[in-house]
Amino acid sequence: MVKTDVDLLILGAGPAGLTAAQYGGRANLKVLVIEELAPGGQALFINTLENYPGYLASTPGTFKSGFELIQDMHQQAINFGATFITQTAQALHKEGDIFTVSLESGATLRSLAVIVATGAKQRPLDIPGEFDFTGRGVSYCASCDGPFFKGKKIFVIGGGDAACDEAQFLSRLSSQVVLVHRRDRFRAQKALAERVLHNPHITVRFNTRLKEIRGEKKVSSLVLENTLSGVSYEEAGDAVFILAGTIPQTSLVPQVAKDEQGYIITDQKMATSIDGIFCAGDVRACPFRQVVVAAGEGAVAAHSATAYIDRIKGEESFGEAR
Ligand code: NAP
Repeated sequence: MVKTDVDLLILGAGPAGLTAAQYGGRANLKVLVIEELAPGGQALFINTLENYPGYLASTPGTFKSGFELIQDMHQQAINFGATFITQTAQALHKEGDIFTVSLESGATLRSLAVIVATGAKQRPLDIPGEFDFTGRGVSYCASCDGPFFKGKKIFVIGGGDAACDEAQFLSRLSSQVVLVHRRDRFRAQKALAERVLHNPHITVRFNTRLKEIRGEKKVSSLVLENTLSGVSYEEAGDAVFILAGTIPQTSLVPQVAKDEQGYIITDQKMATSIDGIFCAGDVRACPFRQVVVAAGEGAVAAHSATAYIDRIKGEESFGEAR
């Protein structure tokens, strides 16, 4: 049998990849996680992780952040033997039973199975001014850039969980937050939407579309359109946080089956259409993207990958996923 560098390669170190790494390590696999930035992915931007089961801060009534959870998950995966490298994976190939990943450094690594946990990133609106003012008033992350706009007039675009969550966070920094949504109701979970609707620092503007972002050196105004009347108007503002959905990161696996939005399709064992490639987290086609869901999927993917690797190695697997 051909020797590989590792048994299991995990692409991405968000909650799905980190949980898979922990489970792979506990199953005594040689696990390597490749992450191009720091571990965490989108979970790093969660300020108050109020819905991760059993995860309370030491002070009653408060919650830990996504950053704290990621630190714990990362340490736990290391404790169980997983190793990590910070590199951009550029290509993934399969020959026989062996996967080879090429890194930007020029190195290659071989493994018996792969878990794709590369997540999703914020989708741009692609409107005039958006890219000109990115980093100068246009942002896709409130916890990263919100503090620059303390007390300023801030717009948030989108009607999902991310827009509601981020508007809520920004309302602690400014009493002039305007949440702009193109429809007449939120897509967000009811609990988040209700909180936004009752927040005195947030004005919700339904049936409104952002058409253009204007300014000189930084954002100074927005052109908005009322979608019912078709009337456009210009309004002063200092910052725009765009949270209008996500794009799955699948460039390493162009050949696996995906849904019409580009998310990877798996079976209930998290197996993709290609033998030996498993998938977990926000990059997977799933109706509910949450940290707890990503973690659960990471555990299932690692369990299934373990059974697959045992089969390839000709070893017996205990507790094989059914
Ligand atoms: P999402 O649920 O897909 O919502 C995207 C929102 O942006 C929708 O309201 C959509 O409008 C709007 N939108 C899309 N394209 C637009 C455009 N061109 N112009 C204006 N508005 C546009 O995405 P998300 O909020 O980023 O969340 C992504 C996933 O992460 C979801 O599964 C979500 O549940 C999860 N998440 C969970 C939490 C949490 O539980 N606390 C926090 C953040 C994210 P329509 O409604 O009209 O389609």
